[in-house]
Amino acid sequence: MKASEDKLDLNTIRPELFISDLHLCASRPEITEAFLYFLKYTAVKANALYILGDLFEYWAGDDDIDDIQHQTTIHALRDLANSGVKLYLMHGNRDFLISSEFCRATNISLLQDPTIIDLHGQKVLLTHGDNLCTDDVAYQDFRKLVRDVKWQTDFLSLPLATRKNEIQTIRIRSEHEKLQKSSEIMDVNNNAVNDLLKKYNYPNMLIHGHTHRPNIHAIQLDGRNITRLVLGDWYEQGSYLSCDQNGCNAIKVNVF
Ligand code: MN
Repeated sequence: MKASEDKLDLNTIRPELFISDLHLCASRPEITEAFLYFLKYTAVKANALYILGDLFEYWAGDDDIDDIQHQTTIHALRDLANSGVKLYLMHGNRDFLISSEFCRATNISLLQDPTIIDLHGQKVLLTHGDNLCTDDVAYQDFRKLVRDVKWQTDFLSLPLATRKNEIQTIRIRSEHEKLQKSSEIMDVNNNAVNDLLKKYNYPNMLIHGHTHRPNIHAIQLDGRNITRLVLGDWYEQGSYLSCDQNGCNAIKVNVF
């Protein structure tokens, strides 16, 4: 009897999954397809799914929720939530205007950036990661501007079409500027990482995305061992981090 109970326990272990930087958009339908497949067949077996920012290439406001592309994703997320998987979303630098209407429609809980969670007895700090790229001073100035409540209120009061046009202009400018920035500038600054880890009292792990440089970094800070896990983007392929009591594994998702 004991043996079968143990077996049952093993079969019901449901992992926590972490993803970021999907950049879902109409021009890359194969990524949306891969994501919908991932939700239906992989995430459905999880305990929780954490989306750590940049789910969408851009988000002009919750009044864009009726867009047919968005509706497909929203329905899939809601189906997943209804099946019992807990859904969490953190803003990225592309979709920070996601608000309460989106969260209601998907049954997703919005997380502050950063957030600390307990993962099988481990303290894990979650962040999108853009606030760690402090060497990119121009971007940090831009971030400060667009995360300001007054700026957001003013921006959201514009017609949806005007907002989409403005975002398009910003995206073109940003792509152009990126070409002139060195690759180091667009990675995290190690002092910013260490400051954050100290501020949150030396968690066991830091999980973030944004840099599109999936990796596992072993950090030694003031005599503590901390793991920095960087999530991959969803471009040529997708990927997710799967964590349970035995640890975390990065797993690839095929895109066809
Ligand atoms: Mn990002």
